[in-house]
Amino acid sequence: MSAIRKISESAYTFLDIKDHTLDGIDKVSQGLDNAPELDLNSRPPCYGLGTLEKLPLEVIHLALILLDMQSLTDFRRVSRRARQVADSVPQFRHILNHVPASIRASLIIETTRYFSCQELYQTLCTAECESCGDFGGYLYLLTCRRVCFLCFTEKADYLLLSRKDVVRKFGLGSAHIALLPRMRSVPGCYSPREIKCQRRETLFDHSAA
Ligand SMILES: [Zn+2]
Repeated sequence: MSAIRKISESAYTFLDIKDHTLDGIDKVSQGLDNAPELDLNSRPPCYGLGTLEKLPLEVIHLALILLDMQSLTDFRRVSRRARQVADSVPQFRHILNHVPASIRASLIIETTRYFSCQELYQTLCTAECESCGDFGGYLYLLTCRRVCFLCFTEKADYLLLSRKDVVRKFGLGSAHIALLPRMRSVPGCYSPREIKCQRRETLFDHSAA
């Protein structure tokens, strides 16, 4: 997503800011081998879902949207029938149709364990920044929150911490650090200041620490 400012009750304008967020990284915009995509021409499945087939499709849908996104995408890769069922979940289908980068990006940075399909869908269906209520043009994919450009770049809640920072700032031990939401960074160029990151780093959620 990009920097957008609300200029009236129903009008928004794009800000001329090169934000260098994750969706500008090639790997995210071009997709991943294991990233889900809607395939309307796939062959019909040869096998069913076993005992799961005894349940009404609506019940399977209810279970799938409550799974974390990692489990849902894992389930989807089990077989063609599993893929067919997962792709028929309305919320998942909407996300794949309109915001596939949100799933691709969270798979790359390894945060899909922290939110469900339902949570991502609900976040995408809102417009406001969770911190200030202004228009939120960005997704903070570690905890699946909508956020505006100002909060994203200035609030401590969205400034991720290295392991060293977590220890120095909060004095947490390894047992506590192991429980913190974390992500793996992607090499690239970030922020309007064009900071280059060459290595994959493990970064921790500030507000959880
Ligand atoms: Zn905000």
